Amino acid sequence: PGTQLPFDPEKKTLVVLGSGWGATSLLTTLDTTDYNVVVISPKNFFLFTPLLPSVAVGTLNSRSIIQPTRYITRHKARTVSVIEAEATDVDPENKTVTFIDNSEIKGATSSRTIQYDYLVYAVGAETQTFNIPGVKEHAVFMKELHDAERFQRGFMDCVETAAFPGQSPEEIDRLLHMVVVGGGPTGVEVSGELHDFLEDDLKHWYPELAGRIRITLVEALPSVLPMFSRQLIDYTESTFKESKIDILTKTMVKEVKEKSVVLQMPDKSIKEVPCGLVVWAAGNKGRKITQDLMAKLPETQTNRRGLTVDDHLRLKGADGVFAIGDCTATSYAPTAQVASQQGAYLARVLHQLAKKDSIEQRLKKLEEIQVEDPAEKEKLEKEAKLLQSQLAKVKPRAFQYSHQGSLAYIGSERAIADLPFMNGNVATGGVATYLFWRSAYLSTLFSLRNRTLVATDWLKVRLFGRDVSRE
Ligand code: FAD
Ligand code: NAD
Repeated sequence: PGTQLPFDPEKKTLVVLGSGWGATSLLTTLDTTDYNVVVISPKNFFLFTPLLPSVAVGTLNSRSIIQPTRYITRHKARTVSVIEAEATDVDPENKTVTFIDNSEIKGATSSRTIQYDYLVYAVGAETQTFNIPGVKEHAVFMKELHDAERFQRGFMDCVETAAFPGQSPEEIDRLLHMVVVGGGPTGVEVSGELHDFLEDDLKHWYPELAGRIRITLVEALPSVLPMFSRQLIDYTESTFKESKIDILTKTMVKEVKEKSVVLQMPDKSIKEVPCGLVVWAAGNKGRKITQDLMAKLPETQTNRRGLTVDDHLRLKGADGVFAIGDCTATSYAPTAQVASQQGAYLARVLHQLAKKDSIEQRLKKLEEIQVEDPAEKEKLEKEAKLLQSQLAKVKPRAFQYSHQGSLAYIGSERAIADLPFMNGNVATGGVATYLFWRSAYLSTLFSLRNRTLVATDWLKVRLFGRDVSRE
């Protein structure tokens, strides 16, 4: 009953968990005629995360950076079943996945368990809070689309509340103090985008308040952006200084309260700083389903950072399971670049496996055939020999990552880029890099539809500024 899964008993079932960078890249490259393909994700769309901070300040519309997963699967050679549901359990022994409908509207059936032959596990990660008090309750994350929308509403609420007649000067300063926690690329990009919003728009819309808006970026380590070269870190720090974004390094957030953050300063003293809004961008942690899966494989899954895979992205300790992207703990950084290359690699591997499986099936059939006629027997033996030699050739190569460089937007129409170039590295920052950043992201967006929407949003902001109305 209900939507039938695309079931062909001759084919193996491939279940894909997730619709993010890894899963989308896999689906784009996958030959769907090889398998019964089922995609399960609580979001029925792909989110282009690099442009999420631009949504947070209203430079881009939310809809411009998402793409329905069906946009890809509907063009595939064979029907793919896309299910909007959250996987709650993977049983690697019985090879099953259980999923539930966790959306607002539920039907009579809202939970199911299905069998897989192969599973691609690409559920990403969630925001790391380190169980610091108050983070979940009072801070805004910057991971999902609703986080960016929540930030936009919260930020404009702070501005409008500061404009409320009779507000005391201390309260205005508190409401207009934005604290960004985490000096990784997410925190830096949010701070830069926030500064642009302030300079380009708020100064005109709220001239009496704009000068009082403050942005503080808090980072526990000695510098921001540790993954970039020293020269670009210095460039970012000096750009932020010019932009009046305060960077507090060697400073750790110890608690987030409704109206303040508690900081441990470099000299270990504790300081409570009043603020209107806290953005929490302190890194990744494994999802509950990932932790549960690891607990089922205690002998092989012991890395606290995430799932352990071999060099073919096979999950250690589980047969038929592959894991890619942010849910894994590898020598690669948890980036979109890595996840998408892994997804495309796995699609090719799965095609080879399908080939291998069908050869093995045919060989098995040949073994079962009983013939008396010597000519017929010879023919079958010849076929078996040919298949054996074809089988020997199916040897998927190990995954190899090819780093295309790191790029980040730092506000004031400046970006930074560390690009591999002729066996070396080129570090560049500035307005030209910003134009490169824009064109690189525009070309990486998966569809012409999204490229058009993003380019139109950029043009709209140039012409009319960002929208300050609060939904
Ligand atoms: P995701 O893309 O997070 O996808 C996970 C998917 O799994 C989602 O579709 C989710 O809905 C789904 N899911 C979650 N739980 C379940 C479940 N229980 N069952 C089934 N499905 C589930 N990287 C770069 O290389 N360059 C950048 O410029 C860049 N910018 C970034 C900016 C921001 C603001 C953020 C947050 C990240 C950025 N990254 C960037 C990192 C990049 O987004 C991640 O590394 C990438 O998304 C990882 O891909 P993934 O497929 O592993 O996970
Ligand atoms: P991150 O892990 O790179 O950075 C988080 C930072 O928060 C760390 O530097 C950490 O020291 C700091 N931190 C943690 N707890 C803290 C506390 N209590 N107080 C103060 N500071 C604290 O996280 P991210 O920036 O979200 O990035 C996640 C991944 O996504 C990374 O691999 C990153 O490269 C990638 N990413 C890339 C881009 C880009 O290339 N433009 C943009 C965003 C994210």
